[in-house]
Amino acid sequence: MNKIAIIGAGASGLMCAIICAKASLKVEIFEQNDKCAKKILVSGNGRCNISNKNLSSNDYFSNNPSFVAFALNSFGFKDFEEFTTSIGLLLNVKEDGRAYPQSNEAKSVAMLLVEYAKNLGVIFHTNTKVLDIEYNDLFSLITQKTIYTNFHSVVVATGSQAASHLGGCDDGYIFAKKFSHNIIPPYPSLVQLHLNSNIHSKMSGTKIEGEVTLLINHKQDMITKGDILFTSYGVSGFAILDISQRASVALMNYENVDLSINLLPNFSSQKLSSHIIKLSALHKEFTLLDILIGILPIKIANTLLTSIDISPKLLAKNVNTKLSKKIANSIVNWRFEVVNTHGFRHAEVSGGGVDTNEINSKTMESLKQKNLYFCGEVVDVLGRRGGFNFAYAWASGHLCASKILRSL
Ligand SMILES: Cc1cc2nc3c(=O)[nH]c(=O)nc-3n(C[C@H](O)[C@H](O)[C@H](O)COP(=O)(O)OP(=O)(O)OC[C@H]3O[C@@H](n4cnc5c(N)ncnc54)[C@H](O)[C@@H]3O)c2cc1C
Repeated sequence: MNKIAIIGAGASGLMCAIICAKASLKVEIFEQNDKCAKKILVSGNGRCNISNKNLSSNDYFSNNPSFVAFALNSFGFKDFEEFTTSIGLLLNVKEDGRAYPQSNEAKSVAMLLVEYAKNLGVIFHTNTKVLDIEYNDLFSLITQKTIYTNFHSVVVATGSQAASHLGGCDDGYIFAKKFSHNIIPPYPSLVQLHLNSNIHSKMSGTKIEGEVTLLINHKQDMITKGDILFTSYGVSGFAILDISQRASVALMNYENVDLSINLLPNFSSQKLSSHIIKLSALHKEFTLLDILIGILPIKIANTLLTSIDISPKLLAKNVNTKLSKKIANSIVNWRFEVVNTHGFRHAEVSGGGVDTNEINSKTMESLKQKNLYFCGEVVDVLGRRGGFNFAYAWASGHLCASKILRSL
C-alpha cells in the first residue's frame, strides 16, 4: 500500500493527515516535539482564533499575492466549519468574522484533531526530528534514530522559524533547497518592535488604546488602532502587531521606520490644548502632571512631559498657550524610531518562505519534484491577525491531501 509521510504535526500537517487517512491511505506523521500542535495550543491567547468567516486573498502577504486564492476557494470557511462540525468541534463566529472554538479553549482544538487522526489510523512519530529527505523513485526520511523508507509522497508541513520554543525552525526551507527550491527571505511578523530610545522602558507595563501611524522613509504607510503596550524593550499590543509585517519588511530593506503614536485618538490637538489651558486656569496650584493624569496613565504622562523637556512639576499657573500646544501635539503625534523587531523567537508568524512560483497553487505540489508537497506557513504566504494564518494552514493542508488522493 502507498504510504504518505507528513513532516510536522501542526495545523496544516494534521489537516492533511486527516483527509488522507479518511480515504484509507496509510499516513505517518513525524513531529520533532514531544507533543503535537504546540502552536495551536498557545494560539489566540489559549483560545485559538481558528479561522475567519471573511476570507479573501487581500488578507495575505506574499511575493505572489494571488497564490492563496485557489486554496481559500477550494476549502473556504464554510467547508472548514462543516469539517469541524463533523468532528464535534463547534465554532463561535464573532461579529467581525473571527472564529473561535465554542469551548473557547485551544486545547480542545489540538486534542480533537490529534485524537481524530489517531482514530483514523494515522501513525504518529513524536520526538522524531526529520533531518533529511531522500528520493530514489520513492522517498526516505532520515531521522536521528532510523531511516523510514518507501513513501510515495512527502508533505513538508514544518511551519516557519517563528516561536522556536514551540518548534519553530527553518528545516522546511533546508528540505526545499535540497530539491532546488528558491526561498523568499524569511522575516518575523506579528511581532513586537524595538525602539531607539530608553523612554519606553520608563512606561514598561503600561497599556493604552491608541492609534499608530507607521512611517517608512518618513512617509505615512499604514494606520492601526488598538492596544499599545510599552515594554522594557519597546512596544507591543495589537496595534503594533498589526503594523509589524510592514515594519519588519522595511527594516529588512534598511529603510527608515518610525512610529507616530496618538495616545488619545478621540481628541484633536486643538481640543486637548484648550482642555489643558482651561484646567490650568481652574486649578492654578495643580502641577502639569496633575493636569495630564486625568486623561493619560501616570507613567505615560510623566514620561511624555520629560521627553519634551517640560517638568511634570511645573505649576499650572505657568502654563501658556504655546506650552499647552506643545503638549497636545506630542499627545497626538509622539514620535519613536523603530530599530528592530523582537525577533523570530517572539514572533507569531514569519513572512517569506518557499517561493510560491515553484509550487502548483492548485495542488501545493512542488514544481521541482513530483510527489513532494509544501503546505502551511513554510510557504511564502503570511496572513493578517484574525485567524487568517490558521485558515491558510487548513486550506493548504486540505489541498495537498486532495491532490495526493487523486494521484493514487
Ligand atoms: C503564540 C502564537 C499565537 C498564534 N495565534 C494564532 C491565532 O490565534 N490564529 C491564527 O490564525 N494563527 C495564529 N498563530 C499562527 C499559527 O499558529 C501558524 O500560522 C500555524 O500554526 C501554521 O501551521 P503550520 O502547520 O504551517 O505550522 P506549525 O503549526 O508551526 O507546525 C509545524 C510543525 O512541524 C514541526 N517540525 C518542524 N521541523 C520539523 C522536522 N524537521 N521534523 C519533525 N517535525 C518538524 C514543528 O515542531 C511543528 O510542530 C499563532 C502563532 C503563535 C506562535
